[in-house]
Amino acid sequence: MIDPFGRHISYLRVSVTDRCDFRCKYCMSENMTFLPKKDVLSLEELELVSAAFIRKGVRKIRITGGEPLVRKDIMTLFRNLGLYLQSGELDELTLTTNGSQLEKYAGDLFAAGVRRINVSLDTLNPYHFQDITRWGNFEKVMRGIEAARTAGLHVKINTVALKGFNDAELGDMVRWTGERGMDISFIETMPMGAVDGLRSDQYLPLSEVKQQLAQSWTLTPSAYRTGGPSDYFDVAETGMRVGFITPLTHNFCESCNRVRLTCTGMLYMCLGQEDSADLRAALRRDPSRAALDAAIDEAIGRKPKGHDFIIDRRHDDRPAVKRHMNVTGG
Ligand code: SAM
Ligand code: SF4
Repeated sequence: MIDPFGRHISYLRVSVTDRCDFRCKYCMSENMTFLPKKDVLSLEELELVSAAFIRKGVRKIRITGGEPLVRKDIMTLFRNLGLYLQSGELDELTLTTNGSQLEKYAGDLFAAGVRRINVSLDTLNPYHFQDITRWGNFEKVMRGIEAARTAGLHVKINTVALKGFNDAELGDMVRWTGERGMDISFIETMPMGAVDGLRSDQYLPLSEVKQQLAQSWTLTPSAYRTGGPSDYFDVAETGMRVGFITPLTHNFCESCNRVRLTCTGMLYMCLGQEDSADLRAALRRDPSRAALDAAIDEAIGRKPKGHDFIIDRRHDDRPAVKRHMNVTGG
């Protein structure tokens, strides 16, 4: 699959549910309306759509959400997609999770063929954790991370950098992850969906974070690539890596290889644009899959050049897109 700007699309992110057992303040508002359950694709349908993308050249699938591990029977999807790893049709099956269910599922994930996962963790302070996630349980997440490492999963921590919240402890998080043999990526907060409070009050440019970290750590540009948007640096003191995901300060759209499927079968060709394609309609209309294949081709043909994220007071803190991050996943 090649889009109008010559980019090869080889990476599919699948949001298997928009529901979540946390309510992170930058991701969701306090009172969320979730997608109607009747509109959600079954696990079989999610697999059929994923298989269509694999046939068309996708080599990497990331399962995300909402919180993917709260979806009932989700291991069935992991096990079935894991078969494509065994057959060599897929290079990598991976997961982004808040870690709350890892104690339960880490072993099953490894058995399904998952080797690398991203766990989102914005602070090492249990009180701040409670504040930012509203509903999270810090100790359970810590146990989940340990369970994942014990099961043999390579864990990368994802941390949204938030002004006035975790800016003072980002260096500690580099140390904490480094000591445990984990990489860490920092992420700039993106204006997706309305949240309580102003995005401009929270927004912390990672150019500032990098400068701040460089005072304590020796950072050298790394050749390491995962197919994702993180720009990695080796940390000499820990032997691990720190990544920067900078949708605001450095747009990485020119190398975008990704499209995103929601749990209701909408395909978003860009995280930061409203345009989408209804793959569920195509899937349910034509059991021969011809309509689904044609709908995917048509959608890739209108993948936009990039997003237009801006966060500042002049733009009145308006979200770039109406949907929250939990719909398309990270
Ligand atoms: N629930 C899972 C988790 O938290 O890892 C997967 C879904 S979550 C939407 C995926 C990632 O998006 C998380 O790392 C989260 O911190 C990040 N995220 C959520 N809202 C964001 C926003 N507005 N800007 C930047 N990152 C965001
Ligand atoms: Fe849930 Fe992940 Fe969003 Fe937090 S960031 S509310 S854990 S989907």
